[in-house]
Formats: sequence, structure tokens, C-alpha cells
Amino acid sequence: MGNPLHILVVEDNPVNQKLLGLMLKQFGYTCVIAADGKIGVAEYRKGSFDAVLMDIQMPVMDGFEATAAIRAHERSNGGHIPIIAVTAHVMPGYREKCLENGMDNYLAKPFKMQELKEIITETMQQRNAAS
Ligand SMILES: [Mg+2]
Repeated sequence: MGNPLHILVVEDNPVNQKLLGLMLKQFGYTCVIAADGKIGVAEYRKGSFDAVLMDIQMPVMDGFEATAAIRAHERSNGGHIPIIAVTAHVMPGYREKCLENGMDNYLAKPFKMQELKEIITETMQQRNAAS
């Protein structure tokens, strides 16, 4: 069901990288994995992705900084790529913090494969409805 999405995964943890890659493949999606926010922004700029899965805690450039850089690029160049925060930070208010900082949705780690699928589908539908 649906188009095969092309997803940018920005995540520093090798285990999480592998897990996300396998899950996305199961959905029939393709992905590129970037190991920190700086690499993620560079990949975003050269790729044509449908959405971004963005870890928060990463070396070099964290998920908030990377999201800010992507949104700044979009202000000059147009577009709005859906960015889903994928983070182990589950304290109250953290989802709101992600949304206030330019992200479109939020998924707490650990998550089940079905939850990942649902959050991607939901986020893509929100974007389609908004555009
Ligand atoms: Mg991390």
C-alpha cells in the first residue's frame, strides 16, 4: 500500500541504524543513513527524500541543530520535508519541544515496527493535507 518512500535516517547509534534500516526495508521503503546531524543535512541537500527520521542526541550536530539547518534551507529554497523526531527522551513536554523546533512528529524509543509505520504514514498524510 502506498508509494515506496525514500527516507533519510539521521541516527548515530549503529544498532538503531541497523534496526531502522531493516524496518524501513520491510515496509518496502528505501533509505539513506547519516551518522550525525551534519552528515544528515548534507544528505538532505543532495537527496530527494520524502521524510526524515531524526535522532536528537548525536555527536557533531544534534537533531535540533540539524532540523534548524534544514528548515533554514527550506526558507530560502522552498519545500517542507516531514521530519519525525525519534528519541529516547520521553519526559513530559518533550514532544512539544520537538514540534516547536520544526519537527512534524515524534516517536519515542523503543518502538515497535508497527508504530514506526503508523507514525510515518500519519506524518505523510498530514503533509499531504497541508499542501
Ligand atoms: Mg543518538
